[in-house]
Amino acid sequence: MTTETPHIVDTSPHEWKYISEGGSTIVFSYSGPAHPQFDGTALRLRKGPVPAHEDPDKYSQPQLESEVEEPDDPTIVFQRTVIERLVPKEHLPRLDAVRVERTWLQELADLTEPHRPLDRRAKDRIDTGRRKAVLATDLVGGQGWAVEIKPKWGFLPSPKHLSSETREIKTRTCRFCMHAHLKSTQGEDVSLGYCPLDLFSGDAGRVARALHTLWDVWIGSGGAVNNLRVFVGGKMLKPTAEVRAFSTLACMHVMSLAPLAEQLFPAASPENTPPPAHTLNEARDAFTAALLPLLLHTPVLRTLATLQRTLDALDVEGLAALWAGLRPDDAHKLGKGETDPDMDAWTRFVDEYLVRQAGDGESGDAVPTEDELRYRLAAYLLSASFKDCSIILRMRPRSEGTEPAGTVTVIDLDVKSIGRLSKWEKLDREIVDAYRGIAPRDCVDSSAIS
Ligand SMILES: [Zn+2]
Repeated sequence: MTTETPHIVDTSPHEWKYISEGGSTIVFSYSGPAHPQFDGTALRLRKGPVPAHEDPDKYSQPQLESEVEEPDDPTIVFQRTVIERLVPKEHLPRLDAVRVERTWLQELADLTEPHRPLDRRAKDRIDTGRRKAVLATDLVGGQGWAVEIKPKWGFLPSPKHLSSETREIKTRTCRFCMHAHLKSTQGEDVSLGYCPLDLFSGDAGRVARALHTLWDVWIGSGGAVNNLRVFVGGKMLKPTAEVRAFSTLACMHVMSLAPLAEQLFPAASPENTPPPAHTLNEARDAFTAALLPLLLHTPVLRTLATLQRTLDALDVEGLAALWAGLRPDDAHKLGKGETDPDMDAWTRFVDEYLVRQAGDGESGDAVPTEDELRYRLAAYLLSASFKDCSIILRMRPRSEGTEPAGTVTVIDLDVKSIGRLSKWEKLDREIVDAYRGIAPRDCVDSSAIS
């Protein structure tokens, strides 16, 4: 037993404030009295399905009930083994193990249920069977404000491994824009109009356009789309219908966006004069102006796009072709019977990846051998982690003057399971098929040009 691992029962469940949740985890921010181990931290807990709504793929970690030592959460081990070798540490949150226990988790779960979105509550809840969880740097709590962006796929595939049937479509419209189209035809809330290639472009005009679109979708969907989230003082803001209905009025200081307005437009006078009124468009412009310098100067977006592109050098189509050549009996079941790489395999993979990148770059050729197949399968899984992560832009409070605007941190870099490959291949076909006959969007991949 490691004695240094902090124990959550040293705090009360009442001292942890619900922040937000994703598909498989839920996050809380510490708000209790000063504590050397918990100040400035966020608690990340695994969720499990509610009995009526089993979706085993989504919660792929084993349930551990016994008293044997539970290993640290895979996210922690994966970050130390793989991620920290690819993304500079200053752009990653600190992640540590923390001990938890059932009665404590149950109490927190009971306190939290009323704050959770209804659609989430119908599907899952805190997994109270765990004995360890993740303690991370709290990037959204405290003074100032923070923005979470899920940038998604920042590259167009190389035409080399695409079939003649898909090449024209996939090289003109990016994967995100095509997927958004498919989802919108299925009635889902999506970031329609947002193109990740704009955000990743490094061009001020295009990055501003991406931010404008994300803002508009955020307001228009009442915060329901997860590509943009805004936090002030640790609380996630939800633009209300009221804001949307009065979008042209000077409504910023009376409604759900008031905490953000206070950050964007600090009162000029310290007296008790009412704050000036601002329209939604003024807020959008101030929001964009605040984030733009940070996004243009950070190396993080370029790093993410390069990792995505080089790890997914074959496209899922090229990967599937390599697979089919070596596994003719399971040609249409990408990844069937393959096991997830263990941490030793991941270490060897990163060694190999770094050697290949340091060489002449990625030639994109895949010789049909077993070793190459294992390499490409792992590479694709890792590319998926980088396609699905978020970045947190942590903005300093205005009062701190002309300091650099803030920090950029990459979060949610979880290891993906090989069992999802065949689903991804199928989804890829579905996305492209739904885009046949649609006027191409002509998404511009600026790194591919240079
Ligand atoms: Zn696009």
